[in-house]
Amino acid sequence: MKVHDMQYSYVRPVVISLCIIAAAAAGCAIVGLPDAPAQPFARYRLTLEDSDLNVIRVCGSIYGANEKETRLVVTHCDGSEGIDPIGLRAFDTGGRKLPVSSDGCGWVVKNSRRDFTFEYSVVVTIEDGYSPEIRNKLTLLGGDRSRVMGRDVFIVPGIPVSSGVLVDVDLYPAWDMHAAFRSVGRRVIVPRACDLSRMMAVMGSYRIHRSPVCGIDLLLAIGGSWAFTDEELFETIRLIVSSETAMFGSSPHDRYLFICDRNPVKGGGGFDYYGVHVANSMVLLLDPGMDRSELYDTPMALIAHEFFHNWNGEAIRPRSDDLLWFVEGATVYFSYHVLVELSIISREQYEWRRERIASRYLENPCRGRVPIRSAGNSDLGDRDMVHLLYDGGFLAAEALDRKLFEVSHGEAGLLDVLRWLYEHESGEQGVDMETIVRSILEVSGHDLSGFLEMLVGDPAPAVLAGGEQSS
Ligand SMILES: [Zn+2]
Repeated sequence: MKVHDMQYSYVRPVVISLCIIAAAAAGCAIVGLPDAPAQPFARYRLTLEDSDLNVIRVCGSIYGANEKETRLVVTHCDGSEGIDPIGLRAFDTGGRKLPVSSDGCGWVVKNSRRDFTFEYSVVVTIEDGYSPEIRNKLTLLGGDRSRVMGRDVFIVPGIPVSSGVLVDVDLYPAWDMHAAFRSVGRRVIVPRACDLSRMMAVMGSYRIHRSPVCGIDLLLAIGGSWAFTDEELFETIRLIVSSETAMFGSSPHDRYLFICDRNPVKGGGGFDYYGVHVANSMVLLLDPGMDRSELYDTPMALIAHEFFHNWNGEAIRPRSDDLLWFVEGATVYFSYHVLVELSIISREQYEWRRERIASRYLENPCRGRVPIRSAGNSDLGDRDMVHLLYDGGFLAAEALDRKLFEVSHGEAGLLDVLRWLYEHESGEQGVDMETIVRSILEVSGHDLSGFLEMLVGDPAPAVLAGGEQSS
């Protein structure tokens, strides 16, 4: 079975203008308060327009509008496909239609400093068949359960709005709803407007399991019947979450929603596994026919891998694609270590996997020609380049870990580097090669820039596959 990693979406550069962080506390921005900062307040309502055609109706409202014009933009300008809002219209509070024009990368509402609402429809169908679209579309409207991913439905104000955007998910009024962000009833409180794209909500027949783990409010929403019990899955998720949180000392989010569901897309070779991590939600789309023993193989590797990206990839954000080897390689490396430590896989299984990675790396036609750090610069549609990125990244992370251990006489390793980066370099500014070199210097007292250049800057070297010899 192939493991498809869906990390690509958020490691691509994010358009900063969309991520306007509201500085005011939520309670200060209600319009009309004498000392309130002049920041508009947004809310949304989602309803089901046509269940057969998978059409969602989105209605947004802007209160406290203080500009003549308000831009509305798609929520992710990261190279992935944007949404197509059908029949976008805007109205003032008296119900009068307002002019809306498109300017190529968004829409402009001429609201003349008045509050207004805007509404549109969006089709959320996933292609029936093996389609890369599933990488981006996580919304699913089903017969007895549904889930909604923000980036599939929202266009958002391109102006600063107050924190605490309210979203009423009224798709199925009779169904219970749970969300990755905090919610009350069917209302989700999205922290900031830039988080709208990352809002995940589930409803209907999902079975909900909930437990505190290391200060994290952990939720599992599981749908359908499986060869394993909900408790078996939840317990293993708890172990992985607590183990990885302990590695870093704290977690970027204080609440996580894991979703386990059947993969609706069947390719030529049968069902594939998918693990998709978007902010504080984690979607596991598994083969409905998998047997119980498989639970402790690929799905657990997916969970360990995707959860590790909370730190390496999200909190420690690569500034450009030439650091994808670090994001993916170190994540593969440490997620396997977590699985060994938790006895989810044996050391022999780990060695076997490492050997497979090393031999695939040696056979890769791009090896010796393309540096590992350049393997992430393509569109990731080239299978050999993807393998070079993941396999080469894993082997480079392993070699770097060994080198650090050696030069520091066992005092420091790659995990110390990651921890240092998490503590000192988390945030929107991101990290680059120079930051990595500096963090290595900080934790080990050694400048390994030359060694790093050999690992990932020169055409991918054969010596990496050798393991021990590489250090
Ligand atoms: Zn990954």
